[in-house]
Amino acid sequence: MLAVEKRYFITTFGCQLNVHESEKLAGMLEELGYIEGNDISSADVIVFNTCAIREGAQDRAIGNIGSLKKIKRKHPEKIVAVCGCMTQQLSESEWLKKTFPFVDIIFGTSNLYEFKDFLQRRLAGEKRILEHSEDFNLEGENVALKRTSGNNAWINIMQGCNNFCTYCIVPYVRGRERSRSSDEILEEIKEALKGPKYTSVTLLGQNVNSYGQDRDEISFAELLRKICALKGNFKVGFMTSHPKDLTSEVIDVIANEDKMKKEIHLPVQSGSNKILAKMNRKYTRESYLKIVKEIREKIPDCRITTDIIVGFPGESEEDFEETVSLLKEVKFDDIFAFMYSKRKGTVAEKMEGQVPEEIKNKRVNKCLALQKEIKRSKLEDR
Ligand code: SF4
Repeated sequence: MLAVEKRYFITTFGCQLNVHESEKLAGMLEELGYIEGNDISSADVIVFNTCAIREGAQDRAIGNIGSLKKIKRKHPEKIVAVCGCMTQQLSESEWLKKTFPFVDIIFGTSNLYEFKDFLQRRLAGEKRILEHSEDFNLEGENVALKRTSGNNAWINIMQGCNNFCTYCIVPYVRGRERSRSSDEILEEIKEALKGPKYTSVTLLGQNVNSYGQDRDEISFAELLRKICALKGNFKVGFMTSHPKDLTSEVIDVIANEDKMKKEIHLPVQSGSNKILAKMNRKYTRESYLKIVKEIREKIPDCRITTDIIVGFPGESEEDFEETVSLLKEVKFDDIFAFMYSKRKGTVAEKMEGQVPEEIKNKRVNKCLALQKEIKRSKLEDR
């Protein structure tokens, strides 16, 4: 334990997986005796957990880190650590180290579980630390955890992704799929449910539907059934689903188990088969619509949400209109629409037919305006 009360402050960028990993960073810091601070200026250890999925998130992280320069000049004793998907890329880590000489510790997603050790080394006088490894494993699942998401317990069921969508950097910064054992997952949920606080359990993974396929394990549908069989008053959700892997069995579990939340986030990305093929999504507009039909037939009150990427390389006006028509046909409960942004190291980065920013802007706004209308008319129909 620390003799004087020391504080930490973590800034998290990106998805729920990062939010959950920040719970692990907090858990490790509290094991060392730190307590959570209210802001950066009062913190002794400042952590940035970065995202590399979209350009905007990465730029925001860089801006936030850069703004620490003055604070660190005044208080050189403060420790600044940067981790996450951005720093899992060695070139980015090295750039950060060179650009921001006041950053003390840099490490990637594969080293997360070693954070406590890095911090202790720095406190013991070691100079700036940059750790990088390509050894993706499940060690991060065994570290201390401080749950910070209200009544919801995030539960990681797997790490990594095998899909290699051509715009996405996740398989490079999170490695290939690695499922946790179902026994371990069930134990973690039972433990979380011991207190009366948690009324919601959300299973996390880049592609939860392929849970268990990388090892001798039960299927995702079976895992859901086992979780629903646990005692307690709680609801179960999950994210994210890949449409090519969502099985009828999983839809049946959602339909039949009272504990399952009646909601599915099913990223479609585009309504054009040409663009879906270029994205390497491995499903078609038709097969996607078939899944939506099955969900609506089996679970009429199911909330269905999606992600859309507009302006993917080669997306013509006609391709974009196919996305618009899909939005009109499905009438999602909500959409998350993004403009395509190049990610270094991905296949799409080098594709021809990059779409100008102003066209992407127009398209994303059209999707958002349409979705607003759809939501309004759904509300009126109720
Ligand atoms: S399924 Fe595609 S978009 Fe999702 S994490 Fe894997 S590669 Fe990225």
